Amino acid sequence: MSTGQEHAGAGAEGTGPAAPALEDARDFAGIPDDTERLWTPHRMAYIGGENKPKDPHDGQQCPFCVASGKQDEEALIVHRGESAYVILNLYPYNAGHLLICPYRHVSDYTDLDREELLEVAELSRTAMQVIREVSRPAGFNLGMNQGEIAGAGIAAHLHQHVVPRWQGDANFLPIIGRTKAVPILLADTRALYADAWP
Ligand SMILES: [Zn+2]
Repeated sequence: MSTGQEHAGAGAEGTGPAAPALEDARDFAGIPDDTERLWTPHRMAYIGGENKPKDPHDGQQCPFCVASGKQDEEALIVHRGESAYVILNLYPYNAGHLLICPYRHVSDYTDLDREELLEVAELSRTAMQVIREVSRPAGFNLGMNQGEIAGAGIAAHLHQHVVPRWQGDANFLPIIGRTKAVPILLADTRALYADAWP
């Protein structure tokens, strides 16, 4: 993923006014790692707290409670089950990032009743099948963040992430290309998945 520019300016010593040098962050203090970073500026709205409820116990402010009361197209809902529904993540880690939410405003996995537990599991499975059919990902990340400390953005309302993964999806250029198209992509993606839902 090297741009070849990290060391621009190196070797310019003694050749007149130095051009602004780009420093390679890998040379900074700390332990280098091999982790690839996703460049996802659309997630800044999420990190900045947009749509985040001020009172986590107030269902009226909860984006997942509000979404289930809206039209599917407006709320980017892909499928509605009996006790849980499937919605596109507004702040996706990747194209096609789906969330499975119970309708009920509960925060913890152990709060789910048996029907919700089964339906969240079944909808997660069907979501994988639908995403495979539509988008042919190479793999998935599935999971739940329990509590803000564990990374839950809307900790008060349980949601299961289903994130499709493609070879090279963490690379720099595809992420930029994709990010520019995100608002249209979300509506298109919702329609594709909703049509493919069995
Ligand atoms: Zn809620």
